[in-house]
Amino acid sequence: MNDCVFCRIVAGEAPAAKVYEDDALCAFLDIRPIARGHTLVIPKRHAAELEDLDAELGARIFRAGHRLALAIRRSRLAADGANLVLNDGRAAFQTVPHVHLHVIPRRHGDTLRFAKGFLLRRPHDPVATAAAIRDGIAALDNKGASPEKENEG
Ligand SMILES: [Zn+2]
Repeated sequence: MNDCVFCRIVAGEAPAAKVYEDDALCAFLDIRPIARGHTLVIPKRHAAELEDLDAELGARIFRAGHRLALAIRRSRLAADGANLVLNDGRAAFQTVPHVHLHVIPRRHGDTLRFAKGFLLRRPHDPVATAAAIRDGIAALDNKGASPEKENEG
């Protein structure tokens, strides 16, 4: 038995809006997002902290986070950037003891909204948000070129 909530998500025993999955990794929306599209990338095999994580798996987690950040820029969420953050250990405010990389979409000038999101951590239509990110991943797979972008002026 395992009372780790992320292991239960991997096993399909706890609900999550998944956006990506492969043999070793799973990515899903944070249930308490700081910003719309806030996603977590986790190893499927339980590792509480970096201390317990295979280095190669750690590299794969970051690679997936990198791709997700690019996908979210290409998605309807149209992020301008992202924070990729991994809190390792309780001393670093890791709240769920299963390694996870946060991918938090950012927009130009979103400082106030980000601060508010940090306090409220309310979900934003997770079904549509997860679909938008999966579309962004598909766009990334289909073509290396970025879609139409508004002129910077
Ligand atoms: Zn776990």
